[in-house]
Parts: sequence; structure tokens; C-alpha cells
Amino acid sequence: MPGIVKERLFTPGPTPLLMEAQLRALTMTLHHRTDAFRALMRETLDNLKYYFNTKNDIIVFASSGTGAMEGAVSNLLSPGDRVLIGTAGKFGERWVQLAKAYGIESVVVEAPYGQEVPVGEMKKHLESGGFRAVFIQATESSTGVRNDVESLGKAVSALPDCCFVVDAITGLGTTDLRPDEWGVDILIGGSQKATMIPPGLAFASISDKAGRAMEKSKLPRYYFDYAKERKSLAKGESSYTPATSLIVCLHAALNYIKELGRENLIANAELLAEASREAAVALGLKNFAVGTPANAVTSICAPPGIESTKVVKDMKSRFGVILTDGQGSMKGQMFRIAHLGYYDFLDLVAVLGALEITLLKVGHKVELGSGVRAAQNVYLRHSA
Ligand SMILES: *Cc1c(COP(=O)(O)O)cnc(C)c1O
Repeated sequence: MPGIVKERLFTPGPTPLLMEAQLRALTMTLHHRTDAFRALMRETLDNLKYYFNTKNDIIVFASSGTGAMEGAVSNLLSPGDRVLIGTAGKFGERWVQLAKAYGIESVVVEAPYGQEVPVGEMKKHLESGGFRAVFIQATESSTGVRNDVESLGKAVSALPDCCFVVDAITGLGTTDLRPDEWGVDILIGGSQKATMIPPGLAFASISDKAGRAMEKSKLPRYYFDYAKERKSLAKGESSYTPATSLIVCLHAALNYIKELGRENLIANAELLAEASREAAVALGLKNFAVGTPANAVTSICAPPGIESTKVVKDMKSRFGVILTDGQGSMKGQMFRIAHLGYYDFLDLVAVLGALEITLLKVGHKVELGSGVRAAQNVYLRHSA
């Protein structure tokens, strides 16, 4: 065994961290009811708007992304409301479970794993009317597909009493999203994905339409009260103790992202995803996504006759590379390489070089260098 094995994360959250943001959090002491913190919070919220590509207000909670998802349900709806949900995997199923937890009746449009939500079918349901909100993922991290948020958003924005909620927790920073143009009323993000910082913060943007719906909504809520948080944050305050060290971290990371440029961050993920897909094919593997593939994460089918679990385990023990296996019924069937966080082309080349050795070791024949070469060719194409 080699002496040194560095652990590296290539998972769809948590993701490789931006060290300078970590260091800021370690060296900065702040009390949250101070002018210094309020100024930092205001700047962070402004930069979040840049990151989200929206003019709408953004709120922040000390929770994982699911907290803001739950909040979208409890803040928009009232008992007796009906909603429309598009699901293409495990995270789409979370919307279904959340609606159920609050006793909200849902109509569910389900895509088989690997395919994107059939937006045409959702639009047909919308024509029948009576939906108070529509829920979907921008990118479904469990399968590596991207949904057509633009087309669905434009259909929902024509309906005055129906809000459009998008889980963009892995979509942000990896995908060109135009929430204001597309009529996204609530766009949700989380800290442990493309923002390059640890887990623990959830974000949500709120349109005017969502603001009006929240005033009428009667479902119970307390901590995840969007309107209350929005009011507090307008003063640079949060309703309860904020996760100060994570806010400091986020502030530094968003400064980095702003300098880099949102478009360049997205282009980075796009390059890594395309290179991964072409490398998979060169290695004799199939891409799991048959719908529009996401830039956030690439899902690759297990080598014929070999469980993907073996690939994931070998990559971890041999190289310290942390990939993710399929979730639920996809376990053993595919593995995922994410393209989120502080992560560059060189990291991917290393992962692919390691993957080739792992594939040989688990019994899948490959020509060494063929996956890496495919990725290099994608790089050359992108830099031409
Ligand atoms: C990570 C993720 C979430 C949120 O999960 P948490 O564990 O609550 O942060 C939700 N949706 C998608 C698409 C994700 O990738």
C-alpha cells in the first residue's frame, strides 16, 4: 500500500472547501448583535443575490438545505391546498414527502431514474388548474439529470395564484439559472455544494408573488418562518442566533466567486461534467443519465457484471477518493462523481487516472490513459 493517501471529496455535498474561507472563519470572532456583523451579513446577502442571479430578497437559515425546502411548503400553503410536484429521483421524492408531512394533497409527475421530469406533462396538469404551487429540482443530484426549469417557470408565471419553487441546491453555481426571467418564486440553495464551504446553511430567494402567498398561508411554522426572517435580515439581523462562523466563511467564499465570476464558476462545472461523461464512454461505461445531463454531478453505470459499490470502495481505500454509490434502488447500479465546490480540471484528471486503475482492479478491462485522454480532448475543445 502507498504510504500517503489523501482523502478528497467528489460527492454532491459536502464538497472540497475553499481554504481561505475556512481560515477567515477560524480567525474572526464576531458577536451577531453588532454593527460589524450586520455589515458583514448585508454584504453576504448582496453577494448571494449575485450568486443566485436574482434581484429578489434572499433569506438564510442555520440548517441543511432541507430546512429551506420544508419552509417553502409551510410558508406558501394552507390546509386543503393542492400542489404539483415533478420528481426525477430521491430529492424530488423529498418534495412529495414534505407535502405529505404537512397534509398537502399533491399531484406527482414522476420520471424514471435517469430521465428528466416531463415538463410537457406538468404543463397539461397546470391547465386543469387549482394548484397553489409547483415544486421541482433544477438538477437532481441522485441521478445526475437537469430539469427544464425555464419552460416550466414560464408556464407557472402565467398563473396568478400559483408559486414556482425550485430546489437548486446543486443547480446553483453549476447551471445557468435565470430565476427572475423564468418566474421562479422561491429558489433554494445550500452551503455544502458549489459555495465551497461546509454544511449548515440553507438559502431561499423570495419573489413578490411568493411574498403575497406567504401572507395568506395558514400552515403552522415557527423557526422556518420566511417572512419573519426576511424582515430581520433587511436589518442585517437574523431572528435567532445565526451560524456566525459559517456566515463569515460564506462571505469570504462569495467574494472569491464574485471575483471569479458566476459564469466562470458554471463553465468550470460544465467542463468537468462533459469531460467525465466522455471519459466514461472511453472507458467502456455507460452514462446513467439519459435525460439532459446535469453539470453538478455525473452518474456512471456500473461496469457490466460488477457492482458500483466495489468501484466506490476501491477508490476510497486505494486513493482516498470519495465518490458516491447510487441511492436507494440505484445502489450498486451506478456511481457518481460530483463537480461541485473548490474543484478544478487537475482534480478531475487525477480522479479519472485513479478510476482507470480501480476499474482494472475490480475486473473491468480498460486501456490505461483512455479516460484521461478523452477528458484532455474535452479540455482542448473548451479552450479553443
Ligand atoms: C444536497 C441536496 C439537498 C439538500 O440536502 P440537505 O442534506 O438537507 O442539505 C436537496 N436537494 C438536492 C438536489 C441536493 O443535492
